[in-house]
Formats: sequence, structure tokens, C-alpha cells
Amino acid sequence: MNVDYFKMRLSRLRKKLREQNLEAFFITNPVNCRYLSGFSGSTVNLLISLEEAYLITDFRYSQQAEEEAPLYSIIAKGSMLSVLEGLCRDYSLKSIAFEQNYMTVYSYELLKKSLSEVKLVPLIKTVEELRTVKDLHEISLLRKAAEITEESFIKILPFIKPGIQERDVSLELEYLLKQEGGTKAAFDFIAASGKRSSMPHGVASSKRIELGDLVTLDFGIHYQGYCSDMTRTIAVGYAGEREKNLYQLVLQAQMEALQHIKAGISGESADYTARKLIAEKGLGKNFGHGLGHGLGLEVHEEPRLAPGIKTILKSGMVVTVEPGVYLPGFGGVRIEDMVLIQENGCEMLTQKYKEELLILEDF
Ligand code: ZN
Ligand code: ZN
Repeated sequence: MNVDYFKMRLSRLRKKLREQNLEAFFITNPVNCRYLSGFSGSTVNLLISLEEAYLITDFRYSQQAEEEAPLYSIIAKGSMLSVLEGLCRDYSLKSIAFEQNYMTVYSYELLKKSLSEVKLVPLIKTVEELRTVKDLHEISLLRKAAEITEESFIKILPFIKPGIQERDVSLELEYLLKQEGGTKAAFDFIAASGKRSSMPHGVASSKRIELGDLVTLDFGIHYQGYCSDMTRTIAVGYAGEREKNLYQLVLQAQMEALQHIKAGISGESADYTARKLIAEKGLGKNFGHGLGHGLGLEVHEEPRLAPGIKTILKSGMVVTVEPGVYLPGFGGVRIEDMVLIQENGCEMLTQKYKEELLILEDF
């Protein structure tokens, strides 16, 4: 992978450090470490100053770190505290920033004690904010993750029939996704059938799928570290008018939002376009979650598209658009796609197999 992308990420971070008059940043969130260095192991901290970049891990990972993070000096021996102490001394650092939302009170106390001469400056979601706008390399990986996910949906359909358990569908789906190059499930898949489909987060259970059930499948995979996330609701055997109308309403709400979403609008404004339509039908309270979320190295990232979110969408952000309506005792429908925000609209990364409520009939 091209090191230029990592040079760019480092320079964006250093610009932020300069703006805030900070000498160095100690990074503890492994996902942020991966974003900034390329290193995918789990034991990792970074110390990034305006000129230097150190990756601190343990001996098990030294070779992997050398290979994956060529822009960093790798330190793979000694305790993290003693290494950090040494680096602060070598570079006469008077202050370092740290990730306040990714540091336990225990670690903070240890740090404070061993770096008694150094001022510790708390920062919140600094790297997370950089991560919201994806570079071309990230977009290509997200595109591929989305493609695998969309194709796996069409492949799972022949497997879904009355009598089969939700968990079997979920397992088979994971197998299909991995066969296409996915490395691990991005989250616990939702496979919610019949009345269970009114639970927005109905993780696959041992319930057997029955004729006439609505089935909501919400699934995604990691592809070279990047996540996909897609939802489709289908009917098994047949569907009544109520099911079809519910589906059309959710689809229409999603289409409204997709027409509206572009760079420059806020998270709450994106959410409102879909919510308005559902609320007009008197079902506002049955759409109990936000319209969508960013995704990248993690399946839920900034920005969120939800009521009260003032964050302005920017070109290069990748988000989900996932309205849903859930009727307890009856069932629910959610349709979720991944989109890339652009200046004048958004590009769909997933979009297939949703024009109308799909009814499976050949068993
Ligand atoms: Zn989802
Ligand atoms: Zn989602």
C-alpha cells in the first residue's frame, strides 16, 4: 500500500497539533493507531511529535510493525511507560496530548506519576474527526467491502426457507461474505423474522422462519480492515398489503433522504428528510433510531445522521442511510445502504435488490 496516504494522514494530524501548540500526541486507541500507521496488530501505542513518529508494541509484533508501518521507528521492548519516559527525556518534551476518551483512569494515574515533569493535555476525538473524510485508498476498500456485501445478499436468498433457524441464515451469510474475501463479521448479524423483526437489534436467534414472515437481515464484513453495513427486509412465501405498504413507506423515506444528502447539510437535516415522511404517516415514534452513521475502520463512526446532530457533512465521508419502522407485535422493515458523500449529492456504494418488497417463493 502506498505510503503517501500515511504521510498525508500524519501531516493532517501534525497540522492539528501545530494549531493547538502541542509538541506531541500519545495515541492509545488501536483503531486510530492503525489509521495513522498502517499497523494492524492489537498491542500498540503511538507517540507522534512534529518531526518524529514512534510505534510502541511488544516483541511478538516487531516484524509485522516493521512491515506495516514503514514511516515509524518501531520500539518493541521495554514497558510502555519506560519507553514513553525515555522518549520524553530524549526530546525534552514538556507536554504531550493524550486521547481522553481512550485512557482509563488507572493508566492516566500511572502516566501522571511516571511523567511528573510533563504536562498531559487531554484531547477528544481528534483522530476520529480526521477519519471521517476518507482518502481514495479507503474509498476503494469500502467500495469493495460494499460490493461483497451486496453480492452475498443475493446468494443467501436460496438458503432462506420456512423451517430454517435465523442463526443458520446468519452463519451461512458470514460464510458467503468470507468466501468473497471478507476477514471477519463487522458486528453480530441481525436476522430477525416474523414478530422479532420489530426489534431493530434482533440478533439472529434459534427461532425458525415461518411462511408469511418478514425477515430483516442486517450484516457487514471487514475487508482489509474496512467495514460494510447493509440491511434488507424480505418476505417469505407471501406478503399482505400491510407488509407491502410498510415496505414502500420505508423505501420512500430512504429515497427522499438519498435525494437530499450532499456535502454542506447537517446530520440532523439528513435525518429529518426521512423522518418527516414517516412521521406524516403517524409512525414517527416507530422510527426510534437515527438515520445513519459513518463507517470506515469501525462500523459505527462519526458523523451520525440523527436528530440534534449539527455536524456538517463533507465530501469524502461514507455513511449509512437506514430508515426503519418497527411495529411491536407485527414486525418491522429497515432498508440500509452505504453512500459516499459528494459535493452535489451522494454516490451509492450499495443499492441493489430493494425496488420492492422481495417475496421468496421457490422453496
Ligand atoms: Zn446495519
Ligand atoms: Zn448501520
